[in-house]
Amino acid sequence: ISLWPWQHSHGLVYRTITRTGCNLMSTENNFDAVIIGAGFAGMYALHKIRGLGFKVKAYERASDVGGTWFWNRYPGARCDVNSLEYSYQFSDELQQEWSWSERYSSQPEILSYAKHVSERFDLRKDIQFETKVTQLEYDENAEVWHGQTDRGEEFTSRIMIMATGCLSKSNTPQFEGLNQFEGQLLHTAQWPHTEVDFAGKDVGVIGTGSSAIQLIPIVADQAKTLTVFQRTANFSIPAHNSDMDKKHEAQVKANYKEFRAQNSLQRSAIGMVPNPVSALEVSDEEREQTYEERWSVGGLPFAATFNDLGIDRRANSTAVDFVHRKIKDIVKDEQTADTLCPDTVLGCKRLCVDSNYYETFNRSNVFLVDIKQNPIKNITHNGLVTADKEFKFDSLILATGFDAMTGALADISITGREKQTLASHWSEGPQNYLGLMVSGFPNMFTITGPGSPSVLSNMIVAIEQHVNFITNLLDFMKQTQRKTVETSEKAETEWVQQVNAIAAQTLYTSGCNSWYLGANIPGKPRIFMPHIGFPTYVEKCNEVAAQDYRGFKFS
Ligand code: NAP
Repeated sequence: ISLWPWQHSHGLVYRTITRTGCNLMSTENNFDAVIIGAGFAGMYALHKIRGLGFKVKAYERASDVGGTWFWNRYPGARCDVNSLEYSYQFSDELQQEWSWSERYSSQPEILSYAKHVSERFDLRKDIQFETKVTQLEYDENAEVWHGQTDRGEEFTSRIMIMATGCLSKSNTPQFEGLNQFEGQLLHTAQWPHTEVDFAGKDVGVIGTGSSAIQLIPIVADQAKTLTVFQRTANFSIPAHNSDMDKKHEAQVKANYKEFRAQNSLQRSAIGMVPNPVSALEVSDEEREQTYEERWSVGGLPFAATFNDLGIDRRANSTAVDFVHRKIKDIVKDEQTADTLCPDTVLGCKRLCVDSNYYETFNRSNVFLVDIKQNPIKNITHNGLVTADKEFKFDSLILATGFDAMTGALADISITGREKQTLASHWSEGPQNYLGLMVSGFPNMFTITGPGSPSVLSNMIVAIEQHVNFITNLLDFMKQTQRKTVETSEKAETEWVQQVNAIAAQTLYTSGCNSWYLGANIPGKPRIFMPHIGFPTYVEKCNEVAAQDYRGFKFS
């Protein structure tokens, strides 16, 4: 049994005793590090860990790279972060070579970027596609993880990197009769790879989150009729998407490093200029004008129109009133407009970014059904029944989101020290240190897990920061001949308390039910999962690393 995972790169041969007995496993399936997932996190982790001279492999359930951008192929799927920001920065050559065609990139373009990266850095040879890791068990004696896949393969690895994604486990609500539907049943997060033709069809969509809001205008354009089933109205800000401004692109590329550095100082690591003024300290005219300016710029920066929208209900209600007025200006039918006006705090659910969403409800072939008033009773063989009406469809689209942040981890049976499972450790909600390590699960790292800025920040920036932290830590272990690293329950408890304390000062926890709180999944513990604030998080990580990785224990 190898004591040091990196030794075989210097030519040492070793054998492993498997957990099930004394079967000798071939060294082929023994790794220094195994990565689960080949989305943007898994790909960068693979690139960096290879650079440490480790024997590393990634397993990916999809047939190609791209993670969430591989699966979410519904019409209109597009990123809500500017293309020049939603990309890797670790290679200046890469960011100089690649050109984005639009201000906000479409899913096909992001996927082709992911493929380009996988080829450019020769990653594919170490990724095994169409393979789902189903089980991981820590062997305390050998200090390795034993893994099993859905292909019946086994592997061992000293280090596990969980790059399983925050929005990768789709949520299919258990509607009664769902499996009896005989028409075309689709889920936005499991969209077919061939084009879906809605021409001449009656289509229903359940859900009005970001995915639905992007898809609805496009499907409405093709279908005979489109009926939208809305449980909770969402706030959506126009994207004002456009072709890439080549002059702006050239300016950014001329000074990309500085552009990235400035953006990473923002709370969400997104280059939205915050307005350091309270919504309550300005005149009605100035407030209205400021909202108008932000609305005309469009997108997520609307949430930063004033500095207290996320913490003060009175300030927030001025933004709510503004968007309600916009909806009522756009949507001609008064009742439909009223139903589209959200009754929650603005921004406590992820703000949606759209192209012609509200305008679509002026079409004669589009209908809105308020399922808060008239809940869905059951799905039938050719449609669905609400409390007061029956609907018939050729196609039914579930735009019902994800079991976010923890869903993909919970899908793997993970057993750590003393036979404790991750499921039982997290039975009251996810607990970890810095969003990176769970106590009792040595040498296992999560990338952009709960407890880290992840979904509240530019994901690719957050991914690079996490992977850099992890690989620096692994390099430190290599240099200092440490075999294992883990965190303590104390460090974990204190971190969770800190994440919760920050969230409690905001409207995220009191303003609505959101997937940030796990509130969209029946039975999931209600706990605010992401850490608010990218720069403060990075500062904390740097401080921890400078103090010989305070909060981590090594052996
Ligand atoms: P989502 O925001 O969770 O929306 C799911 C929708 O389905 C909600 O309207 C929800 O209603 C409804 N729903 C769920 N279960 C239901 C049930 N049992 N009965 C009736 N309605 C039900 O999911 P999403 O739209 O896929 O977006 C998830 C996240 O992915 C976004 O917040 C965003 O972070 C990311 N995303 C980003 C982009 C982009 O970059 N532009 C695009 C798509 C997605 P309730 O609100 O009442 O629960």
